[in-house]
Amino acid sequence: MKRWIIEKFFGDPDQVLSLLRRLFFENVPQHKLGYIASFACMGLVAATTGASAWIMKDIINRIFINKEEGMIWLIAGAVIIIYTVKGLSSYGQEVLLTRIGNAIIASLQRQIFDRLLKQTVDFYQRHTLGDLATRLSYSAQAARSVIDLVMTSLGRDLMSLIALTAVMVAQDPWMSIVVLLIMPGAVLGVSKLVKRVKLIMRAELKSLAQIVSTMQETAIGIRIVKSFNLEYVMRKTMTKAIRDVEKRSHKIAIAGAMTGPLMETLGGFAIAGVIVYGGWNVIQNGADAGSFFSFITAMLLAYEPAKRLARLNVQLHSNIVAAAMLYEILDQSIDTDEAPDAVELLIANGQITFNEVSFSYGNSPALNNISLNIQPNSVTALVGPSGGGKSTVFALIERFYDPIDGSVQIDNQDLRSVSFESLRSNIALVTQDTFLFDGTIGENIAFGKPGASADEVIEAAQNANAHEFISVLEAGYDTPVGEGGGRLSGGQRQRIAIARAMLRDAPILLLDEPTSALDAQSEHKVQEALDRLMKDRTTVVIAHRLSTVRNADKIYVMEHGQVLQSGSHSELIAQGGLYAHLCALQFREPVTKIFASSAV
Ligand code: ADP
Repeated sequence: MKRWIIEKFFGDPDQVLSLLRRLFFENVPQHKLGYIASFACMGLVAATTGASAWIMKDIINRIFINKEEGMIWLIAGAVIIIYTVKGLSSYGQEVLLTRIGNAIIASLQRQIFDRLLKQTVDFYQRHTLGDLATRLSYSAQAARSVIDLVMTSLGRDLMSLIALTAVMVAQDPWMSIVVLLIMPGAVLGVSKLVKRVKLIMRAELKSLAQIVSTMQETAIGIRIVKSFNLEYVMRKTMTKAIRDVEKRSHKIAIAGAMTGPLMETLGGFAIAGVIVYGGWNVIQNGADAGSFFSFITAMLLAYEPAKRLARLNVQLHSNIVAAAMLYEILDQSIDTDEAPDAVELLIANGQITFNEVSFSYGNSPALNNISLNIQPNSVTALVGPSGGGKSTVFALIERFYDPIDGSVQIDNQDLRSVSFESLRSNIALVTQDTFLFDGTIGENIAFGKPGASADEVIEAAQNANAHEFISVLEAGYDTPVGEGGGRLSGGQRQRIAIARAMLRDAPILLLDEPTSALDAQSEHKVQEALDRLMKDRTTVVIAHRLSTVRNADKIYVMEHGQVLQSGSHSELIAQGGLYAHLCALQFREPVTKIFASSAV
């Protein structure tokens, strides 16, 4: 029976019930006191609502029929007290619930973001920003609404309904039975609308995410959008997403609003029935008119909470779908997680070894049984055609992924056994597309070392040849970089990234050399800074420039996830093969050298 009722009310009972249970167990207990206080307020609202109907009997009988003058003041005073208490407790309940609700949203958002931070790089490739952002804001809000809806329905509406029903039964039990028979009919009618709303809601969330994604693509790719005249493509995608959301919002609104007329009509029948029966009873049987009025007042007052309870179903459903999407993120497993007994990585000198490592991204193989021996205090260059697996080597050193076969070790410690914190704090990464966070130049450098002093930041910038251009800026280190660093030139951004790595001062440096040429002066300054940065570390560099590979202590030539050749520049040139071929065709001379040689 219970299951049948739940099914009628909420659709698939198992899913909904377990979601509700989880939402409540995880969020309600820590606000126990607040909920108890707001329930007390709701109890007062219900009691005073009941009292306001009850007092009608005395108003009619004692003032209007018996004409007891003394009662006028007494009853008027009682009415004032009843409504004042009702007003104050409504206020208290509202404030308490809102505060708890806001705290629940904040806590859910923190949980989601913490979970997202633990996710792998791969996860971010599978989810769009729009999708994640929608879940973070909209789904957390929906989860709070579910809890709020249940709390206010159970508390205020259900208690008020019970108080009013008690008044009705006390005044006229027979009439109450007639009314109570009509009410459940309305509830069943409403439950039919639920399935519809549920389907529309899921699609609605997808379209909302599409809107955010399109906006994001436009903002990030604005140069491409403009230079290729792609505005019409973006507009088309956006218009479609907006239209979808609009259409679905209409549908949801219509389904929700249909409960109104349904309840009005049934309410009309109930009131007419009561007037016929009650009027006949008063006129023919001389029944007490005060009780009749008290009854009809209770019934009219019961209408609102009953309507809200009937609608609860629809509202709860649209929010439950969104709340479920929140748990999809919170429950998403983490592919590469820290071992429960992870220990600190102890750096002896920073030797990195790949022992017969194989790795694939899903079904596409990226590394095939490779072994690398990367020596400390030296520069190891990875070279080879694009797609050869060089970036994957970096990703495995950072343990963004685990190898499928073989192992990666630093100073003979398997990366799977050490903590992420200790591993990554010993690595500095300088990528070709320097990513700068929204903030000032100083803050961006300081990310290299949490709690770095201003002097340390300046020293790092000096070593990275960045100080000179920063100090001539009007706001110096406090200059905002603009989202993604758009206000700085390529060479300047690289030098900021180098300063960040300088400050980190990690024993292991992973450097993905920029493929695009800078102007001669910038190139020279960047190179100088890099030379300083690479000193006395284990440096692994994905090399694109001839001078880098020439100076490297060891070179690994990679293609199709395999190491084809290894050795120093002169050894490899002597061997011939892919390396000699690459040297002849692919490597870029630094601009300074080209200029220098053309000047000769
Ligand atoms: P390189 O850095 O030498 O250009 P990568 O390590 O980026 O090579 O890529 C090695 C192979 O793995 C390529 O075939 C590439 O298409 C594939 N690959 C790289 N990253 C991913 C990814 N995130 N998902 C699926 N395949 C990937």
